[in-house]
Amino acid sequence: MEKNSVPGNETFLILGNGPAGHFAASEIRKNNAEAEIVIVSKEPERTYLRTQLAECFEAAMPDDKFYMAKLEWYEKNRITQVLGVEAVSLDTEKKNVTFSDGSSRSYHKLILAMGSYNFIPPVETSLYRQDEVVEVDKLSSAHYRHISGIYSIRELADALALREKLPESKKAVVIGGGLLGLEAAWSLKNCGLDVSVVEFFPRLLPKQLDDEAGVIFKTIADESGIELILGDSLEGINLEEDAEGNPVLRSLKLKNGMTLPCDLLLFSVGVRPATSLAKDAGIAVDRGIQVNTRMETSAPDVYACGDVAEVGGFVYGTWPAALTMGRVAGANATGVDMEFPPLVLSTNFNALNAKVFSAGSIDFNDPSLEVLSFRARSKYLYKKLFFKDEKLVAGILLGDTSKSTRVMKGIEKGYSKAEALASDIL
Ligand SMILES: Cc1cc2nc3c(=O)[nH]c(=O)nc-3n(C[C@H](O)[C@H](O)[C@H](O)COP(=O)(O)OP(=O)(O)OC[C@H]3O[C@@H](n4cnc5c(N)ncnc54)[C@H](O)[C@@H]3O)c2cc1C
Repeated sequence: MEKNSVPGNETFLILGNGPAGHFAASEIRKNNAEAEIVIVSKEPERTYLRTQLAECFEAAMPDDKFYMAKLEWYEKNRITQVLGVEAVSLDTEKKNVTFSDGSSRSYHKLILAMGSYNFIPPVETSLYRQDEVVEVDKLSSAHYRHISGIYSIRELADALALREKLPESKKAVVIGGGLLGLEAAWSLKNCGLDVSVVEFFPRLLPKQLDDEAGVIFKTIADESGIELILGDSLEGINLEEDAEGNPVLRSLKLKNGMTLPCDLLLFSVGVRPATSLAKDAGIAVDRGIQVNTRMETSAPDVYACGDVAEVGGFVYGTWPAALTMGRVAGANATGVDMEFPPLVLSTNFNALNAKVFSAGSIDFNDPSLEVLSFRARSKYLYKKLFFKDEKLVAGILLGDTSKSTRVMKGIEKGYSKAEALASDIL
């Protein structure tokens, strides 16, 4: 890493205070003691552990477990936070950003770290009054937050709104049986609700588990007390008016014709990078804002990192990747060369009485894969390593995930079968 001198009176403006924005700020301060650092974020909270939101359904988490840093950290590092304000337009020629409160700020270096937003599929909603349909509409990402009983968890405000509804809720349906959907379903069950999960694919976690592990995981999930409805999807939402005329969730209709009465609906069907600001400013965007391995966008002095960024055609969408990209963006913005290293994608899942670790992204049906597997007497214990071209490329641990760090290391180093066996991974 090489340090170039950067004038101390520069302004580094960071949009978004998730892990990407937070670590960009800390890296900038590490390399430049004088510059002005301003983080602006739409949410009114300082940086918190978004990954823990489902744990907030039941009760608030203690501040020291929830927030990334104490308020004193911002003071000590002279990082100005502007919270509850959204960036609405960007002029990369004038180097200026305009905000939702009418203010604007100019920058020398800009870091785009706006993360992603939850995608809600357009779904037909029917509004009933005394069993008579009064309105048929389409629910979309723009207005689900205004309907009592319908949620999608991205921000703390979403988790708090859901928590408020819990005392009057009995039956919840989660749409989407991916990692986040299953985690949320488990939290809802632990809050005392009867929970169903509806998953479009015929089996759970196809990207993380091969067929054999998928069968074991399904058995564990079935025994967790959560109803799993696989190979089906949401067709319609039935609402009714409350005494004040506000829409309230009553039931769902699935594509196979089944009606599911429920008073709480949670969407967990995927995320989309929040690229509109960059796109409107003429910055190159595909799925995410396109960046090179230094996190540079197509506009001079503008960097992007975290969920909003696409590097090498890939949007990572994970906490560790956002954190690393934030550091890389912050370093390069201050003139210190840093490259984003290729990261091994991994998953740690601990819910439904299951422990799952999966690392590497491969097609489990690739006939050229070689495997090393271990199956204990317990039907819930399963370990498998996948090799391609004689190198370890992926691994699955079910039940006992204690060797997960070794598996990660083995993939990063491309262990052969002999090396894997010698290093006691299984
Ligand atoms: C419930 C939940 C559980 C998760 N669990 C895991 C997990 O177990 N493991 C894992 O790796 N990942 C997990 N993730 C994903 C992980 O949280 C994200 O990958 C990570 O937060 C991305 O960080 P980021 O800094 O890029 O963006 P974010 O954390 O999304 O932060 C972006 C911030 O920018 C703000 N913003 C957006 N637009 C603007 C604008 N125009 N102006 C100003 N501010 C703006 C947003 O409000 C937000 O505060 C989970 C996500 C959720 C929602």
